[in-house]
Amino acid sequence: MQVFDHVVDLVGDTPLVRLTPGIERTSAQVLGKLEYLNPGGSVKDRVALTMVAAAEESGLLRPGGTIIEPTSGNTGVGLALVAARRGYHCVFTMPDKISEEKRAVLRAYGAEVVVCPTAVPPDDPRSYYETARRLVRETPGGWSPDQYSNPHNPAAHVASTGPEIWRATDGRVTHFVAGIGTGGTISGVGRYLKDVSDGAVQIIGADPEGSVYSGGSGRPYLVEGVGEDIWPTTYDKTVVDRVEAVSDRDSFLMTRELARRCGLLVGGSCGLAVVAALRVARELGPDGVVVVLLPDSGRGYLSKIFNDEWMYEYGFLEPPAEGPTVGDAL
Ligand code: PMP
Repeated sequence: MQVFDHVVDLVGDTPLVRLTPGIERTSAQVLGKLEYLNPGGSVKDRVALTMVAAAEESGLLRPGGTIIEPTSGNTGVGLALVAARRGYHCVFTMPDKISEEKRAVLRAYGAEVVVCPTAVPPDDPRSYYETARRLVRETPGGWSPDQYSNPHNPAAHVASTGPEIWRATDGRVTHFVAGIGTGGTISGVGRYLKDVSDGAVQIIGADPEGSVYSGGSGRPYLVEGVGEDIWPTTYDKTVVDRVEAVSDRDSFLMTRELARRCGLLVGGSCGLAVVAALRVARELGPDGVVVVLLPDSGRGYLSKIFNDEWMYEYGFLEPPAEGPTVGDAL
């Protein structure tokens, strides 16, 4: 019988799927790595696994312990999955601007969600960062992975994501493109691919316009999960050859195209990364093999990116001209 003991055993080994010529005809190949096929629905399952395993090994996390992290999304789901297997309790703090749907997902996995005010500075004791810190101090057996400073975040990608890409392309990958949030993905995959190719593989970051990684000041943008206003220690800029800044509009329009033309219902940071990947691919000949990492599913963004009204409201799409349309009752 081919049976897995636990859903956590299904993390990783995600496939590469051709995005060209479906999304655009380029002479280089562009291949998407589908991280939404991880059991928790995102690339963060990998990171949750390695961070928890390392904390168990070093004794920071013991049986019956509590995992506490300020997170509103993918990292929380990954941690909740791993916690379910090992019997840990999870507490996630998040700002009150996060949708009820995202809180519901984490509660469904059995986690406790503490909602904190958004409109306070990060060092205010009521902020979701400070609340998490206080809970770690006050909770016996409490441990925080702190994905922005934990070296096991990039290490997860040195151990699994990087080798998977090298193996699946038979060592023919020439360029790797990923969005930068904590920087764990690009730093870990980048380090592995640089090492294994003697520096030949080019590493390209995709960053929302306004974020610090592409020279911005941290001004706001709407793409979720990527971009920062601070430089986390998990980001190793020495392995990154180039960073492409991409607008919210271009990111979201590409995200919608990926669903319609390639059947890939993915999140906004995927559209962002594909815009950057196509810029790179257009410069290359037929030997170019560009791998772009697609971090999560579009299911979490149905009320935003895939909602026409929301797209009109922000000016990302033009509302249709007045007059009856096919769907209207006449
Ligand atoms: N996209 C999404 C949707 C994410 O949740 C994350 C993780 N913050 C990223 C991209 C970026 O990944 P990383 O933190 O490894 O840079």
